[in-house]
Amino acid sequence: MQYPVHETFHSWQGEGVHLGRSAYFIRLFGCPVHCRWCDSAGTWHPDFVPERIAKISEVELANRAESARPEFVVITGGEPAIHDLKPLTDELANRGLKCHLETSGGFEIQGDLDWITLSPKWEKLPLKANLEKADEIKLIVEDESSIERWISELDESIAGRPVWLHPEWSKRKDKGVLESITETVKEKGASFRAGLQAHKFFKADLLDPNSAKPSPLGGDPNLGY
Ligand code: SF4
Repeated sequence: MQYPVHETFHSWQGEGVHLGRSAYFIRLFGCPVHCRWCDSAGTWHPDFVPERIAKISEVELANRAESARPEFVVITGGEPAIHDLKPLTDELANRGLKCHLETSGGFEIQGDLDWITLSPKWEKLPLKANLEKADEIKLIVEDESSIERWISELDESIAGRPVWLHPEWSKRKDKGVLESITETVKEKGASFRAGLQAHKFFKADLLDPNSAKPSPLGGDPNLGY
């Protein structure tokens, strides 16, 4: 199968339970969700998507990942679950590579994954089956009421796994957002955890010459980092 590839690069996982571990990233084009603050708008926003998109086979992608010798491979996007990932996850598994997925959970997941990070979006709520399969949940905190709204929406379906609370990147210095995360962790404890996109502070992805330039947030260069 040929996949529309935005970038592939070797870096480390900057978020979640596997924070800091060597990871090879495969970022695919395409996402119909269109979050206004998206930090990978280069994969879907018409202002940034090139006319000609490279299509790369699962064999070539697995070759690249294997030669980097990471601890695992992260398939991300965009929204990677809009593509049939089974040929790619099979090829990676054949090479003995663990395969992680980052998804909004709004689309049926095709493929065999060793780890699923599900970050729900209001624009396309996650499928129940995907919530059940997710190994960790990542909630993006846009304002002081975000966390309560998500807890109310997702209810029991997020129980039993780590639930990361990440400030939306353009709000990373917003006192109200940061305090709502801290207070939630203090009040609710258990699986709620304060999180960050640590790789952005390190600019870790950019050290690999094959990584693409960071996309402006939500397709609005005024919000970009
Ligand atoms: S944040 Fe994720 S789900 Fe939202 S537009 Fe960007 S890639 Fe799509």
